[in-house]
Amino acid sequence: MTKWLSKMITLPKLPYAYSALASFVGTQTMEIHHTKHHQTYVDKLNEALSKYPSLGKQPVEELLSDLDTVPADIRMAVRNHGGGHVNHSLFWEILSPHEQKIPKSFEKVLVQAFGSVDAFKEQFSAAALSRFGSGWAWLVVDGDSVEIYSTPNQDSPLMEGKIPLLGLDVWEHAYYLHYQNKRADYVKAFWKHVNWDKVVSLYDTTQ
Ligand code: MN
Repeated sequence: MTKWLSKMITLPKLPYAYSALASFVGTQTMEIHHTKHHQTYVDKLNEALSKYPSLGKQPVEELLSDLDTVPADIRMAVRNHGGGHVNHSLFWEILSPHEQKIPKSFEKVLVQAFGSVDAFKEQFSAAALSRFGSGWAWLVVDGDSVEIYSTPNQDSPLMEGKIPLLGLDVWEHAYYLHYQNKRADYVKAFWKHVNWDKVVSLYDTTQ
């Protein structure tokens, strides 16, 4: 039992205070998002994996990359709650309390793929705004290139072999208290809170 418990997935700590992103989303949104929503994904993922202890030894990212190998009776739970856990774990990391400049080396990557940084931001924002209902907008590495992508629900880009570098949660729980129905204002404020150093370090691991 102890051995299994040590493999349990736990809620990661935020790298800043709940109040640190106040000009993006407020303290209450961050606290509920982390301690209630993310915690629930963690709990339900652990509950599903407890039926197959050997799966709990594999990184969740690996399970999402190869969902067909996950037993059918927990596949949807791993997809939804494993995706929820991995997506949010990345989201907290790519947010920054302070506005950061995009490092020159990465600006080049964006210009090459999208024509300009502004065009990249426009396309990413459009993906975030056009995602109907709940989901995510992403910047991903796919093979040799970076691309903009969006997923419904908690689906992870890993399910299609894409590696996420930057993600924006567009579920209403991520912004409703602060912005109500104004998703566009939330997306606009996001650009002042991207941790580009983290995005670049993720990109570098793929090169
Ligand atoms: Mn969320």
